[in-house]
Amino acid sequence: CGLFGIWGHKEATELTYLALHSLQHRGQEGAGIVASNGEYLFGARGMGLLNEALSKEQLESLKEFPKSIGHVRYATRDSSALSNVQPFLFKSHIGDLGLAHNGNIVNALHIRRALEDEGAIFQTTSDSEVFAHLLRRAKGKDRKARIKKVLQQLKGAFAFMIMSENSLTIALDDHGVRPLMLGKKDDAYCVASETCAFQAIGADYIRDIEPGELITITDDGIDFDKYTDYENPNLCSMEYIYFARADSEFRGNSTYRIRKALGEELAKEMPVTADIVIGVPDSSLAAAKGFSDESGIPSEQGLLKNRYVGRTFIASGQEARERAVRMKLSPVRDIVEGKSVIVIDDSIVRGTTSKYIVRALKEAGAREVHMGVSSPPLKHPCFYGIDVSTHAEIIASNKSTEEVCEEIGADSLTYLSVDRMHDVYRKFGSRGQCDACFTGNYPIENIDGLLPQEK
Ligand code: 5GP
Ligand code: SF4
Ligand code: MG
Repeated sequence: CGLFGIWGHKEATELTYLALHSLQHRGQEGAGIVASNGEYLFGARGMGLLNEALSKEQLESLKEFPKSIGHVRYATRDSSALSNVQPFLFKSHIGDLGLAHNGNIVNALHIRRALEDEGAIFQTTSDSEVFAHLLRRAKGKDRKARIKKVLQQLKGAFAFMIMSENSLTIALDDHGVRPLMLGKKDDAYCVASETCAFQAIGADYIRDIEPGELITITDDGIDFDKYTDYENPNLCSMEYIYFARADSEFRGNSTYRIRKALGEELAKEMPVTADIVIGVPDSSLAAAKGFSDESGIPSEQGLLKNRYVGRTFIASGQEARERAVRMKLSPVRDIVEGKSVIVIDDSIVRGTTSKYIVRALKEAGAREVHMGVSSPPLKHPCFYGIDVSTHAEIIASNKSTEEVCEEIGADSLTYLSVDRMHDVYRKFGSRGQCDACFTGNYPIENIDGLLPQEK
């Protein structure tokens, strides 16, 4: 999912809308905005892409409000119903609560069952809703103390924006699995999942929010705190490899630069020569450039992308995914005909994309098709908010590289090694990265034991 919030700007809602637009790649199943007029919170949300989800009338109704948070939704486990679209808006006689979450709380089911047995009635099937119930029950000297108590009970991946009429609280879990960035537009602080949102609205990128941080923004200013002393940085490797936009920065390094370095490292590990290198647009173009620079093999645009088809991986259902890949990528016959080709993709999950690409390039006349993947073999499901699905659907979960190669029909297949991947991250100042979907070393225990749903 994608988050954006801004406090105290006369164009807050419009800026939130624009920022969400730049975060659309992080979620396409629903979008919403909650805004404060200083007395109450008001919300609007809908299903689908941002421009379908929010009508002009809805936006108009929030226009004058100077404080605003927004969310684009990427459903992993919960059903894609309107009730699960965020930000959530809760009303009570002690005040309103707006809530937006990116990640996955891995003990939400335990908490929910206990609360239900005490009489709580949940409105959604979302793991995020437990936060609101816990906060309403929490005891503490002030709001910040109560929020801290709630955060201390949660396990998993969570980047939160928590809004009241007169405050915006931002929290990141103690592993920092999902990215969260602090920025400033004119005199107003803002927060976003990725820095591309700041670029979109002309805001300054201040810094990455740290694991365990708790930031409170009010009309009086900004307060920096932590909700825990425990800190074990484990930023999601997939954010670098695939998920984030190429122009977004992490600790000042663009995702493009990091992906290019992953491609360079892959070239050092891939003992294949060929006539040309081709990247799978868009997310693998940086890695292909790095591969070409390092190997000296010229890069060409041998695959074209139809930009009007959404991200294939996010399409639900295998048939929809296959159709979308075919619609989305086509080979440039004139470039690949008679050539030996290295294709670089950033990852293989189900293998839908690579199977199609190998076949399409061969049909277009490529003599040989060698697959290079700028990440290690993906073998395990993710419990922290990225839909890499179940073991059964993951092509490499119990196949060797040779077997995967055979299944996708390539002449050879090379993955980047886990060690070289981490070398790259360290080089760019990473404080520690989650690699559980590659290694099976989960940094956070999956307490509820829920598996991602087959789709
Ligand atoms: P496959 O077609 O093998 O199931 O998925 C691989 C393709 O999906 C790659 O081209 C990659 O760019 C994209 N992809 C890889 N990992 C992820 C992910 O974690 N989330 C999303 N949304 N897309 C991914
Ligand atoms: Fe990211 Fe993989 Fe870790 Fe999930 S398991 S958070 S996709 S690195
Ligand atoms: Mg791709």
